[in-house]
Amino acid sequence: VAPPPTVTLDDRFARELAELALPWQAEEAPDPRLLVLNEPLAAELGLDPTALRGPDGVRLLVGNAVPAGATPVAQAYAGHQFGGFVPRLGDGRALLLGEVVDTEGRLRDLHLKGSGRTPFARGGDGLAAVGPMLREYVVSEAMHALGIPTTRSLAVTATGRPVRRETLLPGAVLARVASSHLRVGSFQYAAVTGDVALLRRLADHAIARHHRDAAEAERPYLALFEAVVAAQAALVARWMLVGFVHGVMNTDNMTISGETIDYGPCAFMEAYDPATVYSSIDHGGRYAYGNQPVVAEWNLARLAEALLPLLHDDAEQAVALAVESLGTFRPQYDAAWSAGMRAKLGLPAGLDDAVAGSLVDDVLPLLRRDHVDHTSFFRALGAAARGDTDAARNLFLDLAGFDGWAERWRALDPDAEAMDRVNPVYIPRNHLVEEALEAATGGDLAPLERLLDVVTAPYAERPGMDRYAAPAPRDFGAYRTFCGT
Ligand code: AMP
Ligand code: MG
Ligand code: MG
Repeated sequence: VAPPPTVTLDDRFARELAELALPWQAEEAPDPRLLVLNEPLAAELGLDPTALRGPDGVRLLVGNAVPAGATPVAQAYAGHQFGGFVPRLGDGRALLLGEVVDTEGRLRDLHLKGSGRTPFARGGDGLAAVGPMLREYVVSEAMHALGIPTTRSLAVTATGRPVRRETLLPGAVLARVASSHLRVGSFQYAAVTGDVALLRRLADHAIARHHRDAAEAERPYLALFEAVVAAQAALVARWMLVGFVHGVMNTDNMTISGETIDYGPCAFMEAYDPATVYSSIDHGGRYAYGNQPVVAEWNLARLAEALLPLLHDDAEQAVALAVESLGTFRPQYDAAWSAGMRAKLGLPAGLDDAVAGSLVDDVLPLLRRDHVDHTSFFRALGAAARGDTDAARNLFLDLAGFDGWAERWRALDPDAEAMDRVNPVYIPRNHLVEEALEAATGGDLAPLERLLDVVTAPYAERPGMDRYAAPAPRDFGAYRTFCGT
């Protein structure tokens, strides 16, 4: 029999920010069974995978066996959901078990999703189904492998409890790891209480955990805000460069750390189109692919509003400082995105900005008009840089348009090896994710394991895995994703 896992869980968030932390317990899982365990991540956390696979380990992963001294809490937060402010959201079906010091000395949250109703559950059942929790596991681990800051997935455990959705589905708990779960919505919640001392403690906690340099700045809270602006500008640029559509960029789903969080209705774009929307509830296209930078900036303005009482004693001066700092978002986003696009095109360092810019600006309309698969195009361009243009050219209907652009591009001697390091072969394609989740829900984990295998090494082309590199077949139809399942 496997030994019980030894893990020490700190309760720093619960101690420092008791007003935002409601002590709570996970619901008892009648028959917990581990579906997938992230062994490399377990090792990073100093957790023994063998122990986690044992009965006590599995009970830890659903929150039913919590180490002595830990204080699991539901975290309070507010949020703008599709633009409308909700002052009290919070973890309705999640718990922060506590913080772990990892093998590199970093503090990481161990968090559960789908662990039962909490006082923040409102009308929800507090539960999660196997499919959506595995979806978060696959997509977050794919994002990590792409080098994009994200929360991580440690394990998905089936609970043995059915969950009522449109049908009865098997229930599951996701064990998630994050550098913290502080959100823009956490600051909005603290601001609404009117307790400036609480807001200051929250900001100090955020500075200590994520943006330590801010403590040394002349205006630490303004520096905190600027650090979040910088982290989010860099993050959203990375999303755009891989075609990631988050789907529900509410302010409660935007972190202070700059990690991607809350993989609900997210999806990867196939045919390039800024208007791409997958979420079934995003009727207005608020969170469309091409809107993400603007939405991030809007969310950061909400963070600035929450921080105003800390920025300056004089309200007008506080606003002026916030506006000036928010103004750094666009140039930072543009610089990160442009540099990323230059890398995707393999353009040489030192190339004139205007030349690089016009190549980037001219290729996107071609992709859009011909519904070209974003991921396939950039990867095929690596082969084109080596002289084999067919794979890229075959993606277009307007061959003359592509040829004209490609001639200008090839004249700049693009670096194929560098391109292959930034343009993935494998992303978690929607039809493959659905196929894997459906099989897993029915008890067959093999397709999920194959998919995880390729998306966690996304730049290495594997023989015999062509199917994983191709867009959805036509009969897959228009893809729709759902929230809160
Ligand atoms: P999300 O859109 O999944 O980020 O969740 C938004 C809010 O709804 C958060 O406060 C969640 O805790 C809550 N929530 C989502 N699904 C459920 C559920 N099944 N039961 C209780 N609360 C939920
Ligand atoms: Mg939300
Ligand atoms: Mg959320």
